[in-house]
Amino acid sequence: MNIVVLSGGVGGARFLSGLISLVDCADLTVVGNVGDDQEVLGLHVSPDLDTVLYTLAGVADGEKGWGRADETREALATVSILGGEDWFGLGDRDIGLHLVRTQLLHQGVSLSDITDSFRRSLGVACAIIPATNDRLRTSIRSGAEVFPFQEWFVARQHRDPVDAVEYVGASAASPAPGIEKAIEAADLIFITPSNPFTSIGSILAVDGIRSALMRRTAPCVAVSPLIGGRAVKGPAGEMMQRLCGGAGPADIASFYAGAIDVILYDSLDGAVELPQGVHGIADDILMDGETGRRRVAEAALRGAATIA
Ligand code: GDP
Repeated sequence: MNIVVLSGGVGGARFLSGLISLVDCADLTVVGNVGDDQEVLGLHVSPDLDTVLYTLAGVADGEKGWGRADETREALATVSILGGEDWFGLGDRDIGLHLVRTQLLHQGVSLSDITDSFRRSLGVACAIIPATNDRLRTSIRSGAEVFPFQEWFVARQHRDPVDAVEYVGASAASPAPGIEKAIEAADLIFITPSNPFTSIGSILAVDGIRSALMRRTAPCVAVSPLIGGRAVKGPAGEMMQRLCGGAGPADIASFYAGAIDVILYDSLDGAVELPQGVHGIADDILMDGETGRRRVAEAALRGAATIA
């Protein structure tokens, strides 16, 4: 069984941890978001790839959903004392990984090779492939201002209303090696409950990935990140309202038009009319604890079976 999963960070990793309790991790190819990558203190940080990596390796901070468990912040405390850039929360263990990645990138190793080497070193059985090895960065336009994603999200705590999301570099970006083949060979495809604009939109902005998905022969199931029109956490609900005019399952399904066959949404959202060609499945999609994550992954697999 070949399963491709398009994943963001926290929501994506939660879904993946449920999925690997049901299927063999080695059957998965995770395509990860790099639009929110950021250079911090000279280090190349890939927050979404790392959230997936740490979660699948069993070393993530389960409560926050990102970063590492048992983390300390001594390096960042020194940065603050010295008047350095300290708005992006980097833990000490986490910094170790960014140091190695940054050095390898400087030596000319591709992000996908680095990510593959990291997941092997951390004992993760599934492939984790960044959407692209080319430079692709999400930026947020609010009125006349444009913010790099992390500045808007972390430093400004996503308070500026979003008028547009731009994927800078996407038009020239190629899929990282292996992604198109994995989609072609897939028996199942999932889109995780992630922010459609800032986690999945940036993956689909890579033309080769979007067109491979449009040509898919496998069923593709998207899991909604919204329950009752609101994100479980973060700005996805407001963004959907403002940019798509609604934050229900039908709006998510329309956002992914042509790329999905099934949408799994919450029973709280009631009866919904979905775009033609998209099949809906309603369940409790709160990924609370291990049981919740497993329940959502099970429902997503059931959703795929309705098409297959
Ligand atoms: P980020 O890049 O780390 O913000 O990660 P994602 O985009 O993958 O995840 C953020 C999204 O996960 C938010 O829109 C949340 O609503 C969604 N999310 C978090 N927890 C849950 C959950 O328990 N159930 C569902 N359906 N979505 C969730």
